[in-house]
Amino acid sequence: MRCFLIAFISLAAFAANALLLPPASHAQTTIPRLDYRERTLANGLKIYSVEDHSSPTVAIQVWYHVGSKDDPPGRSGFAHLFEHLMFKSTKHMKSEMLDRLTEDVGGVNNAFTADDVTVYYETVPSNYLETLIWAEADRLSSLNVDDPNFKSERAVVQEEFRQSVLAPPYGKLDYLLTSQKSYTTHPYKRPTIGSIEDLDAATLADVRLFHDTFYRPSNATLIIAGDFDRTQLDAWVNKYFTPIQNPNTTLPRVTIKEPARTALRRYTEYGANVPLPAVEFTYLIPPKADADIYALRVAQAILAGGESSRLYRSLVYEQQLAQSAEGSADLREDTGLFVFKTTLASGKKPDDAERAMLAEISRMQNEPVTLAELNKAKNQLVTAQLRERETNNGKALALGDAVVIQGNANRVNTDINQVQSVTAADVQRVMRKYFTEANRVVINYLSETERTAQNDSDNPTPTNNRVPDTVGNPAQTPQQRKPIVINAGVLNGKAKDKPIPTYPDEAKKAGVYGTVAVKILVDEQGNVVAARAISGPPSLRKAAEEGALHTKFSPTLLAGKPVKVSGTISFNFKPK
Ligand SMILES: [Zn+2]
Repeated sequence: MRCFLIAFISLAAFAANALLLPPASHAQTTIPRLDYRERTLANGLKIYSVEDHSSPTVAIQVWYHVGSKDDPPGRSGFAHLFEHLMFKSTKHMKSEMLDRLTEDVGGVNNAFTADDVTVYYETVPSNYLETLIWAEADRLSSLNVDDPNFKSERAVVQEEFRQSVLAPPYGKLDYLLTSQKSYTTHPYKRPTIGSIEDLDAATLADVRLFHDTFYRPSNATLIIAGDFDRTQLDAWVNKYFTPIQNPNTTLPRVTIKEPARTALRRYTEYGANVPLPAVEFTYLIPPKADADIYALRVAQAILAGGESSRLYRSLVYEQQLAQSAEGSADLREDTGLFVFKTTLASGKKPDDAERAMLAEISRMQNEPVTLAELNKAKNQLVTAQLRERETNNGKALALGDAVVIQGNANRVNTDINQVQSVTAADVQRVMRKYFTEANRVVINYLSETERTAQNDSDNPTPTNNRVPDTVGNPAQTPQQRKPIVINAGVLNGKAKDKPIPTYPDEAKKAGVYGTVAVKILVDEQGNVVAARAISGPPSLRKAAEEGALHTKFSPTLLAGKPVKVSGTISFNFKPK
């Protein structure tokens, strides 16, 4: 199954992977300009293109300016549902045809949904560019928004919810609670993935209305980066996109503003499988296009970017209060969030972690950061951008973000100079301006077993947090674990045969045990036809895939007819 969901676009993730440039070099690194070309069709479609003939490949992206903030009330998860539906059949393509047009010629494709946008992207050998322009125009103009497609993808999304939100230990905190507790008013408070109840309540008419409203040429930006001939590109775009009519109806836009916070707020929340408590701080920060964002990004890198950051060194290495400490700037079209998250070390108290986190924040507010720290942070940010620009897809992503999220394509060429010009005083100023007590929300996230009357939050936990009892519980000791757990998930047909997979000798010898989750595709007869392990110890994955392939399900029926379904099956290995 395709798709990934953006809980938040983490600069920390970029920075942590970045190689450092030599620290002695104070000469400013420059990033080659992206010489983009821009045009708009009469139907409103915007096109940005960047030529680069260094490899015979081309990246195609379509940015729809619709994200989870645009989900209709009571219908959270619609933007994300559409990301899935866009891979189903159209007037001229069978379901999953996009895979055939990309993967079968050595290319790739995927999509993601965020709060502000839904983005579809492909990279293919450049002689397939016309095919992909045709395919993107086709799925914009003739997608089959019908009942079978809607119901099958809704089931897939609901399974994704169980797997990414309910099953992992901190999934509920990352995907639901952080937004719900951080925004009081703005629709950013709703989770991108939606809720099972809202999706269940959705009708085909709702889904069609959403598609007609937001999937239109004037709400889309086509980005092409790589090896193409510009005259040819223009001709293909004209040929396939110009005939698509833009509807006359107005495009609804979110105008609600999140009010500034006026006092510290605290929440204590619980999850079923939380092995160690987590403490999270969130602060409201301005939109991504705001001038303060450059200094906030540098502050993020110094304070919380990776294992050599101040926060990590202090909490994990020096005080040994936490097993992880991170912070990221979740930058959006409107009010964003700066999120610090710490997972405690065994036996430590949330209050101690909170004090230590506050001490590091105060230190950044009270004294300027050193020149070495400043240079290192900038190097991390520059390196991350250089790496992104190495691929055509990365160039297109940077351009799409500048155009759609920041509202100014040229920011793709000015960003790094702005980052380079941040001073220690700028960092100190934004730390004082945004990291105030009144602007802080604190979430303590604990195991259900710690729930006491006194600890209970005023705010009830969301209703969509049922954890299926078939999902393995990591809090159990190995001895308590049952040898095999089947999570039938979206598969309505129950597993008829549940083989116990062979425990690989080497893993047994090495004492490796744990749960392996396997994505599966089940055909109309209930046979598992594809299996791919997605988590769990590497040495156990092959055996789990083997076990999955030998599992047999009763056929899943949709309107009385057997259908192909996907889902996840888990195998729990324990040593004898
Ligand atoms: Zn998805």
